[in-house]
Amino acid sequence: MTDADPELLDLLSTRLGSQHVIRDAASMEGYLVEERKLYRGTALAVVRPGSTEEVAFVVRECARAGVPIVPQGGNTGLVGGGVPHSGLVLSLARLDRIREVDPFNATITVEAGCILKTVQDEAEKADCLFPLSLASGGSCRIGGNIATNAGGLNVLRYGNTRDLVLGLEVVLADGRVWNGLKGLRKDNTGYDLKNLFVGSEGTLGIVTAAVLKLFPRPKSRTVAFIGCPSPHAALDLFDAFRRRAGDQLTAFEFMPRFALQIVLKHAAGAVPPLAGEHEAYALIELSSPDPEIDLRERLERVLGEALEAGIVEDAAIAASETQNDALWHLRESLAHVQRFEGGSIKHDVAVPVSKVADFIVTATQACEAALPGVRVCAFGHFGDGNIHFNLSQPVAMEKAAFLAQWERFNRIVHDIVHAMNGSISAEHGVGLIKRDELVLYKDPVALDLMRTLKRTLDPKNILNPGKVLALESELPPSL
Ligand code: FAD
Repeated sequence: MTDADPELLDLLSTRLGSQHVIRDAASMEGYLVEERKLYRGTALAVVRPGSTEEVAFVVRECARAGVPIVPQGGNTGLVGGGVPHSGLVLSLARLDRIREVDPFNATITVEAGCILKTVQDEAEKADCLFPLSLASGGSCRIGGNIATNAGGLNVLRYGNTRDLVLGLEVVLADGRVWNGLKGLRKDNTGYDLKNLFVGSEGTLGIVTAAVLKLFPRPKSRTVAFIGCPSPHAALDLFDAFRRRAGDQLTAFEFMPRFALQIVLKHAAGAVPPLAGEHEAYALIELSSPDPEIDLRERLERVLGEALEAGIVEDAAIAASETQNDALWHLRESLAHVQRFEGGSIKHDVAVPVSKVADFIVTATQACEAALPGVRVCAFGHFGDGNIHFNLSQPVAMEKAAFLAQWERFNRIVHDIVHAMNGSISAEHGVGLIKRDELVLYKDPVALDLMRTLKRTLDPKNILNPGKVLALESELPPSL
């Protein structure tokens, strides 16, 4: 703590109210530890400004005092990006107003602290859809979604968060406010500044509000759970649906046999969807804003052809909304149940969709060869080329001994991803957990441009220092 810090905290208390400058250890605890408990941080205080002007005030004063700031939304990030190692945590939770819903422009303007579920609900009240959908939707906040360019379940049809953002309001590292809150579909007036901040994980600016796209709300949907003989057959099936169903294909999710086995073993209420077992499973959803459309008929037609072609072995098609939800429950439980199988080593990666089956097969073989008994749980957003390539420990192995091999498996999996021209972080970001990996796999010119942007927009390096980019000068010895 520098001499300036008590003065700074007093100044902030005067402006924000002392109840919004949290200094006691017990109240700070929830802000210092991240979701998976992989990282624990320290901070001088947690500040909770209630408006854009107050955020700007905090940033200005921190810039003056040279005190780092870690912005935080719902703290559900999975890469350690919101964990502080000094300075202040700046929580956006109090900026939680819906500023405007404009159904004719199909936009909603929200503050960064709005919980994702609240934004979805507000859109629904206007008979619209805000399609971003994550299992953390009840606690993550829009500013965090934007800062991480979150993906989730509906990317296939509606895109990542980046595709849903039309405008932003951002507090810059010197405390100036950039008002880019435009709800325009076309705006070619120079560089696309908003896209600099989307996915920048709090290192370039603090998002305080956003204009987001809305869509017509689906009025009909049908879900099927399908058994396939292999990941390659699942890819052929995806191709058939993409060609035949076009935009009606809103999800194509993948699970291997091991994944379904552990869901059925551990998830409450999970019911076997098919009579036999299969090597690969796909969950497919078709949806449409037209309540009259017969999606089931289309689904059955494509599946019938796929059965004849031998790329589908069995299929369960939901006959009601309750059954739609029951099939989704199998997929959504997966992130949660893996912990009951012991330690897991996780990789959130992307390859071109055309290579996703090759990736699953190649990486599975490589990991099984590297550690006999390792149980591969490669599941996820197959239609986006995004696989959560997770490994569960061998049954007879000690958890600690398995987790000690994380680096080794990173190299195996990420080298394969890289050789396929893929990405070592598909949707969760870089944060701390992949910061040093990034240097190994990202194009050096791209890294150089990123550092140039960081130095230009944040010359004092006060915004989330040490995250995303490894700048030697800014790292404390412990990192
Ligand atoms: P935080 O965790 O608070 O912050 C994340 C990063 O953004 C940090 O670097 C932080 O400094 C920065 N940040 C936060 N707010 C701002 C702001 N206003 N301005 C600038 N920077 C800011 N992610 C997916 O992409 N897809 C999924 O399917 C998915 N599923 C998940 C399921 C579960 C059960 C959990 C726990 C997490 C999941 N996640 C998923 C990860 C996580 O929910 C997302 O990354 C989410 O977008 C983070 O939002 P948050 O508000 O919690 O951000």
